[in-house]
Order: sequence, then C-alpha cells, then structure tokens
Amino acid sequence: MVTGTSERPAGERGLTAGELAVTRQLLVHGPATRGDLGDRLNLSYASMSRLARALIVGGMATEDLEPAAAIGRPRQILTAVPSARHVVGVKLTGDTAYGVVCDLFGEVKATTRAALPRREEGGVVPIAATVKLVAQLASRLAPKVPTVDGIGVSVGGVIVDGSVVREGTFLGWRDVDLGGPLRDRTELPVIVTNDVTALAREQLWFGAGRTHSTFGIVTVGAGLGVGVVRNGVAVEELIDNGHLLAHSPVDSSGPSCSLGHRGCVAAYLNREDLERQASAAAGHPVTIGDLVRARAGGDQAATRRLDDAARALGHVVASFAGALQTTCIVLGGEDLAAFTDSPALQEAIDDRLRPGPLETQRCTLDVLTTPLTFTDWARGAAVAGIQHVLGA
Ligand SMILES: [Zn+2]
Repeated sequence: MVTGTSERPAGERGLTAGELAVTRQLLVHGPATRGDLGDRLNLSYASMSRLARALIVGGMATEDLEPAAAIGRPRQILTAVPSARHVVGVKLTGDTAYGVVCDLFGEVKATTRAALPRREEGGVVPIAATVKLVAQLASRLAPKVPTVDGIGVSVGGVIVDGSVVREGTFLGWRDVDLGGPLRDRTELPVIVTNDVTALAREQLWFGAGRTHSTFGIVTVGAGLGVGVVRNGVAVEELIDNGHLLAHSPVDSSGPSCSLGHRGCVAAYLNREDLERQASAAAGHPVTIGDLVRARAGGDQAATRRLDDAARALGHVVASFAGALQTTCIVLGGEDLAAFTDSPALQEAIDDRLRPGPLETQRCTLDVLTTPLTFTDWARGAAVAGIQHVLGA
C-alpha cells in the first residue's frame, strides 16, 4: 500500500519525502539493497519495504537478485530507472538559449540552441518572445525522449520563488516572471534558477555532493559566480551573488576594478577587467585567448598577468572554504583553464593553508575543476528541473 500525499503510483506524481530520499540515495550513490538503504536513511525494514514497492510500482526503480549471490539468501538490489523521467534544461545567456534534454540520471540525450529574440529599445530582451522560444526548444527536444516531464531554466542573476527573475542584467530584465508564462504555455512543471545555483544542484547529486555535504562553487567567465551547498541543500538565494567575495582585497598596489577598488579579486579575475588592463598595456585589443596563446609562446608579461589572476582565484578558494567551513570547492567556467594551468593557483592555496610555527595543519582542500561548456550549464538547469519534478 502506498501511503503519503497520494494513492497514485509514484510514477505519476511528485514523490513523497520517503520515496524522494530513497530515489536520491540511488541516484547519488548507485544501486543498493533494501537493508543498506534502510540503514543509511534510518528507516525500519517495514518502511523501507513499503517505499521500495511504491517506487517499483511507479516505475522509478527496479529490483533484481544480486548477480553473484554468496552463500545464504540472495540479496535484492534496488536500482533507479534512468528513463523514469526526462526534463528539458535551458540556459539563457545574453544572446542565446542553449537547450538539452536529460534523463533521471542527468545524462544528456539531445541538445539544441537558438538565438534569443532581438533586444527592444533600452536593451531589454523581449519576454513573451523568449517564453515562446524556450517552449519551442522543448518541443524540438521532446521527440528525442519518450516524454518530457518538466523544464528547468537557468539565468545569470537574482531569481526568486523558482520563477521570477528579480535582476537579470545580461537580459536587461528586472522583476520578470519567466516561470509562470512558460508553465501556462507548456502545461509542464517549470523551475527557474540562478545558473550557478543550478550547477550547485547538479554537483549536489552528481558531483562533489557524493563526497561532501557542504561545498562551494566558483565560476569564472564574464563575471565571477558563486554557489553554495550547505548540509546537503543547495542555497537558492544568496545575499549578494558573490559580490563580497569578488571584491575582497588581494594586493593594495594592484590594478583597479570597475568599482575603483585597488587590487581586489575582480580586478585580476573578471574577464572584462583583465582584458582592459592587458589591452591598455599592449596598446591594442587583447583577449584572454590572446593571453593564453602568448603564455604558451613564452611571453613573460602574459604569463605574469595570468599568474596574478590565478593567485587571486586561489585566495577566493581559500577565503570561501574558510568562511563556509568546507574542505571542498568546485571551480568551473569557460575561462577556468587559463587559470588552472598556472602554478600560482595551487601555490596561493598552499600558502593560505600553511600552519604557523606552533600549529599543525588543520585541513587540506579538495579543489575540483569542471570546465563548463554551455551544454554543461544547460545540463545544470535540467538537473534542477529533475529535482523540482521529483519534489526535491
Ligand atoms: Zn573590486
């Protein structure tokens, strides 16, 4: 008997808290016996059996005998079914919508992309046309999977209530409800999240979250982005979207950021600031790609500039880990390789961890790197969508 919010099978509704907990265990840590799951989730044998049956009847999981059963009673292994749900994920940048459709395991089944509608006067990307475009991407991806069960959309900026873009600078949006109209148009569950938060949700289930219940994410690209997972929960709304960390001081004699701080992290690490300084020094336009190529060719000025940026990133990693009290920071973003290829990143982290004369070193930091393509960002949105559809 299925108890909880509904008597319908688990395949046709959001999951109960118990079903979700078991499904999450199976997705994050892989197949397990009822006994192991009950132990890990602190559930009685009877509760665990009831949840397992509900998930099997609902098509969320299957149960099979252990292939090479040892002496004694063969054990039943519970496994999540990847095709139980499919969700479309869309990442909106300033000019393009990148779409993917993923299964329950977050595996990308198909991708697509489209240019965003032309901006209106005042630089605002038209909202109704954007809703239509996202719905069209979902329709384009739908034939690649049996069903589409929901949509996740990620946007750089401040998002509230899983639906409203309070501040979407890249799109010229302020207090724009994106989720509501998209829900009405597609008749599907929709969640809108900050793009780095979507990545935090993705890492929580399919990345760093497998080994750490608390961790931070830093992305480097057009701007510095941060995400936080605390005690197994992705923090949905940050107080400042990383502003305080991005403008922490590194070297008071360093270059200035766009806000006029001398030698803050952003002054070294923001793509715009980095390229502006390099261009001014060279007397012609220089991109971050140019700097990476020049470094590969042995150019000392380019090497020094990228080392300085890598050092600033190392300080962000150490400060963030210290403030969050975690031993794990995930680094991502399209510009990341420019900085991780510099030894200065690890040197800065090691120096911050170095104990004083009478101290012992208290921790080491796991710094995980994930070079992000736009498909990866869209996958983050899809995983946020999967969690939303399951009721997480
Ligand atoms: Zn600054």
